[in-house]
Amino acid sequence: MKVERARAFIGRFKANSDLLLSLTDFCREEGISLGVFSIIGAVIGVKLGYYNQDEKQYAECFSLDKKLEISFCSGNISLSNSAVFVHAHISLADHQGQTYGGHLMPGSIVFAAEYYIQELSGAKLERRYDSETGLNLW
Ligand code: ZN
Repeated sequence: MKVERARAFIGRFKANSDLLLSLTDFCREEGISLGVFSIIGAVIGVKLGYYNQDEKQYAECFSLDKKLEISFCSGNISLSNSAVFVHAHISLADHQGQTYGGHLMPGSIVFAAEYYIQELSGAKLERRYDSETGLNLW
């Protein structure tokens, strides 16, 4: 599927805000229904998901109540049930460089988060249930 670059945004999310919800709210407010993004910064705690492929559900969600660097957070923006849906994965590092990672869940709290969001145009991607994986996929 061919897409074109549309608007681009750069900025930061507020301290103590929820990282995933801040990103989702920003996309809704700007009317971004297709795009990609990257974020770096730090969190005061995160909630991550791990998709259990055998049980076909996010059975193993876990929280890390630690001050961590966001070494990288990336993902995409599309539609699910006609609403803006952000799919984000995140890698985090502690004071010794030990890393953690997973599917970003609500409940991850920003210390500082700088984003780059690239809106795309030329296609409409709507997530639909995929029985093979149990996921809502393009
Ligand atoms: Zn995921």
